[in-house]
Amino acid sequence: MRNKILQVLLLLNLMPVTCVLSQENYKNKDVKNEYHNKDFYDVKIYSDKELKFKKNPKNIILLIGDGMGVSQVFSGITANKGKLHLQNMKAIGFSKTQSASNYITDSAAGGTALSCGKKTYNGAIGVDSDKKSIESILEIAERNNKATGLVSTSAITHATPASFIAHQPDRGMYEEIAADFLETEIDVFIGGGKTFFTNRKDGQDLCKKLKENGYEMFDKLEDAESVRDGKLGVLTAPEHNGKFSERGDMLQKATAKALEILSKDKDGFFLMVEGSQIDWGGHQNNTSFVVGEMLDFDKMIGQVLEFAVKDRETLVIVTADHETGGIAIMDSDMSTGFVKAKFTTGGHTGVMVPVFAFGPGAEEFMGIYENTAIFDKMLKLYRFKK
Ligand code: MG
Ligand code: ZN
Repeated sequence: MRNKILQVLLLLNLMPVTCVLSQENYKNKDVKNEYHNKDFYDVKIYSDKELKFKKNPKNIILLIGDGMGVSQVFSGITANKGKLHLQNMKAIGFSKTQSASNYITDSAAGGTALSCGKKTYNGAIGVDSDKKSIESILEIAERNNKATGLVSTSAITHATPASFIAHQPDRGMYEEIAADFLETEIDVFIGGGKTFFTNRKDGQDLCKKLKENGYEMFDKLEDAESVRDGKLGVLTAPEHNGKFSERGDMLQKATAKALEILSKDKDGFFLMVEGSQIDWGGHQNNTSFVVGEMLDFDKMIGQVLEFAVKDRETLVIVTADHETGGIAIMDSDMSTGFVKAKFTTGGHTGVMVPVFAFGPGAEEFMGIYENTAIFDKMLKLYRFKK
């Protein structure tokens, strides 16, 4: 009997604690699914009169928002009170992202479809279903005397950028992917991943080798400020860069540096820039992470469009490799920049993703097509002989 009373007393004692704990959990979960924007930015919407493009693109800039579906875009539109730079891109289509092995692609097969124009198995980096290397748009551009560049907020050896420069059977082979950078003549690459270049099982120092090959190599973007041409590699983090709230305007600055150098080539250039972490916000089912990364990506898009408007020979394409999180935008507020979202998965989804194009040849990107068609269209618009 005494034991029973003691048990009841103990239970009563514990109850308020557990109640508070579960409330706290609920609160945290709820906050995670909301975003209150405090950092609005101006968006310039160009009038038709301001846009005078030449007939064909000399340069192509491909901007990939990893995991960026329509909901991710709309979360950004809502957060910035109804306007993104992206809304200047009026030629709009949809890309079907299914891989050769799965209805739901990963970023390796999704990246390879965009970079090489071939559907392959999930995990493949620049190789087909038989694990044979396929030439990427970056390599084809290089072969046609164009300058080339890669920028990402992840490690530069991560699946998306890797699929443009490396050829490996598995996305996890980061050291092999890093070594593939030496097999190309890429002019500028900026992103994380230094450890895969310098702290390797084979003991090689790839940064040293890159220097021997004429690259200026840096750990910090600020240190590369005086580099205005030639070959440049900046490995800004041991592995991935921090999230948007930690890395500042790294993506914008890196893209500006890449454009400054690449635009000096009279034959034109190819540049791929990835907003890598929109995907990670989706995997974490974290609304503020998704929205913050989306807005960061869009600020970079604004810069790129400004370049393209002045240049008149640059085609800009914005797309995704797949959608992440199965996000739905719930009751939000466009006037205050408040976003509330719900997620249906911690993984990717199979839904088609938007494609936005701007500049000479942009109309080619209207309609619904396979992700591999984006590669075909880029190749056609560059007017390369196969
Ligand atoms: Mg990626
Ligand atoms: Zn992902």
